[in-house]
Amino acid sequence: MSFTLAIVGRPNVGKSTLFNRLVGKRLALVDDQPGVTRDLREGPAKLGDLSFTVVDTAGLEDATDDSLEGRMRRLTERAVDEADVCLFLIDARVGITPVDEIFADILRKRGGIVLLGANKAEGRAAEAGLLEAWNLGLGEPMALSGEHGVGMPELYSALLPISERF
Ligand code: GDP
Ligand code: MG
Repeated sequence: MSFTLAIVGRPNVGKSTLFNRLVGKRLALVDDQPGVTRDLREGPAKLGDLSFTVVDTAGLEDATDDSLEGRMRRLTERAVDEADVCLFLIDARVGITPVDEIFADILRKRGGIVLLGANKAEGRAAEAGLLEAWNLGLGEPMALSGEHGVGMPELYSALLPISERF
């Protein structure tokens, strides 16, 4: 059996970049499929010997400021409901923002399996943000960089025991 991983988080934290890394060249196939919604992009992912479905909450980028929170909440709740595991990303170079706190609230209230990724963690500029991420109350943050491939072994190690449940 396989599982579904939803990548969630506010706009610009690097969700789509990580999605693209996990889906790789298989993305071309995904985009050709009819019925693939713009808001929740999904594709077949591979990480080492793990195969799973990854979902990118992509529609948030189009939201205007005053609709952002409601839209974010609905999209995230949908992604969380449809997924077996959530990977919540923050931008380690920026640190925790009020919008990140809203996301963390949603995820904590919904329960389920949540992994925390402090993304853009290549280099020293991310060190403070990585420590700050502990304050979200979602456990130990993984230092990730979707762009540079940092932290993929840690993501693998976190997903392996989860994959064995499905
Ligand atoms: P999304 O809005 O969460 O889907 O974020 P995107 O994947 O579109 O990335 C937003 C911006 O962050 C883009 O300019 C990316 O090039 C940049 N970005 C994404 N991942 C990384 C990363 O790992 N490190 C750094 N430094 N920048 C990144
Ligand atoms: Mg995106």
